[in-house]
Amino acid sequence: MIRYGFLFFILLSLPVLAQRPCATDAQAINGKLRDYFPGGKYFESAVRNLRDTEEKSVTSDDESIYNIPVVVHILHNGEAEGSGRNISAERVQSQITILNQDYGKEPGSPGFNSHPSGVDTRIRFCLANQDPDGNPSNGIVRVNTGVDAFNIFTQNAFLKGFSFWNPEKYLNIWVCKIEGNFIGYAQYPMISPEWADSIPMMPNIEDVQPDGVVIEYRVFGNVPAGESGPYTAYNKGRTASHEIGHYLGLLHIWGDGFSCLDNKTDYCSDTPPQATFTSGCPFPIPESCLPPAKSMIENYMDYTNDGCMNIFTAEQKKRMRIVLRNCIRRKTVKTVGSICGISATEPAEPGSTKKGIRLLSDPEGNFVEVIPSGIEIRELSVFDLYGRKITAYETERNFAAYSTRIKIPGLRPGTYFVRVKDGSGISRLASFRRF
Ligand SMILES: [Zn+2]
Repeated sequence: MIRYGFLFFILLSLPVLAQRPCATDAQAINGKLRDYFPGGKYFESAVRNLRDTEEKSVTSDDESIYNIPVVVHILHNGEAEGSGRNISAERVQSQITILNQDYGKEPGSPGFNSHPSGVDTRIRFCLANQDPDGNPSNGIVRVNTGVDAFNIFTQNAFLKGFSFWNPEKYLNIWVCKIEGNFIGYAQYPMISPEWADSIPMMPNIEDVQPDGVVIEYRVFGNVPAGESGPYTAYNKGRTASHEIGHYLGLLHIWGDGFSCLDNKTDYCSDTPPQATFTSGCPFPIPESCLPPAKSMIENYMDYTNDGCMNIFTAEQKKRMRIVLRNCIRRKTVKTVGSICGISATEPAEPGSTKKGIRLLSDPEGNFVEVIPSGIEIRELSVFDLYGRKITAYETERNFAAYSTRIKIPGLRPGTYFVRVKDGSGISRLASFRRF
């Protein structure tokens, strides 16, 4: 799925450890689909249209708090809880606190700034209080993977397959040891199918993807002294602030160019254009491409050290909130108002999986039984973690139980999704693991 030519170029062109090693862009390169992600022509024209429409209408952003329930999957290698990769619950909670300070420009915290463009995004985060089956949860899942470090280019689906909650309801964050010099990457939001009605040659994008953010454990949360390994410049939890910015549709502040002549943009008019990324915490602050304006090195979407970041701008906020109102797996992940969490009284939205299907696995691994509740199974599909439709299985209706069996002896080990559409075209999603 990755264009290796491009990846090779990135690896060669960035000095090792001289800057914040974020791999979101390399991950997002996805052949023809690139146009449907941030920076791509269809995505950007859809965002532009939504902005224009909102600015002209009374339905513009009302500044409500958008809450995002988070599940943190800790992929460790057998360490005791609280040591090494198996980071403590306090560390996880410190990351949530940092996210809220940064996205909330919280007074008195490191996330505060007095920059004229710096804003409170009105986006907040909490650990999920309920798992996908409705059981109480602290939002932390610990998995002993038996894996030392993950190669994020060849093992993206593999690492996410160890544990994965419905991305329509949760922001999945995987914390693990990342091979090489990368410390994080995110899955960009994607254009919604309903935006795409008028777009020619819309590829067959199914609405299931391995969605979320992967963070190296040595930069996750408030990292105690001596535990950040080679990443001491990133020990204050700002890697997650940066990567979740990508998850919510932000591009790197310099637009991923290499000089001012590249004329690259992040589609935010209040972040000065920069030739390229900024490393460290330079003083004097380098000039932008439009002097005398300086580069905005305090922006979370630059590559500066954790210690000198503290700005999301008004335009970045607008972009993230448009994504949270409109993108698949973003508009359903947020709750609006004072409560963060999955609430039992939450109204089901189209595409929601709140009710509708339950999966039962055959202990011998020969089939999965799809049990509908209150809906009729009109259409049933199985996908892998990349959203690719699986065709190598058979289904069998069990009329007595009103359920459908998916016979899976041919499926390779991994995580799969079952999507059921009911008579009104509403999708329900559930996942199962084949060992
Ligand atoms: Zn990045």
